Amino acid sequence: MNNPETKAKWVLETKGISGVPAESLKAIADSERIKHRYNDYPEDAWDGMLLYKGDRKAILVNIRRGNTGKHHFTFAHELGHYFLNHPPSYMKNGQSGFRCTSEDIEKEQKPREAEANRFAAELLMPQDQFQLNMVGAPLDFGLINGLSNRYMVSKHACSNRILQLTHSPCIIIRTKGNQITSWSVSRAAKGLLRKLDALPKDTAAHKAIVNKWGHYDFVECAAGKWLIRDVPGIKIYECTHVHAGSGTAMTILKW
Ligand SMILES: [Zn+2]
Repeated sequence: MNNPETKAKWVLETKGISGVPAESLKAIADSERIKHRYNDYPEDAWDGMLLYKGDRKAILVNIRRGNTGKHHFTFAHELGHYFLNHPPSYMKNGQSGFRCTSEDIEKEQKPREAEANRFAAELLMPQDQFQLNMVGAPLDFGLINGLSNRYMVSKHACSNRILQLTHSPCIIIRTKGNQITSWSVSRAAKGLLRKLDALPKDTAAHKAIVNKWGHYDFVECAAGKWLIRDVPGIKIYECTHVHAGSGTAMTILKW
């Protein structure tokens, strides 16, 4: 049984986890005799590690990277490598295991990284429970903020999960300054986003970032700025929230 979602469900069931799974990550590790440590590792360019030495096992989470929600995802990602029995990719000083950087986790270029992420998403935001919380709610920042708080995950992980599970067409674009750093697309919007490196000019998102002032609500926008083609008879709406301190922003496009 190496399907990541099936394995994560199995872990939640067999360990008797109810409530918010993020609060039980340490208990899950304890039950497998995996030592765990959250620490600030300033010199090291990695988010999380799973280490084996003899019959000893440990998970390290680098708290220098991101917020508490992100640390929970990193912990769950390392548990994913463990429960999915991935063969170690890291060897040093008699230790073997995994040394996962932000790029490994976010870009998912290696299949085992994508699998560990799928495990982490299901473990922290179980589909059945999460979908119930989405029912009837508009796909907006209220939903992302509410569910990321409830499940104790980052807005990034939460918005990815919402887009995986929604039936609606929706695209979320994350930026730093004017540059696009990542995007997520729901199944119903697949293949429609134009190839963009920076935010298109003359969009509300671009203005919001230049003015460091986000939107309270969705505004209608020109589909051609964002999408490779018009969706006939459908109006496209966008809404941007800006984090002035870090210069990052998130834009939701939906129709
Ligand atoms: Zn990894």
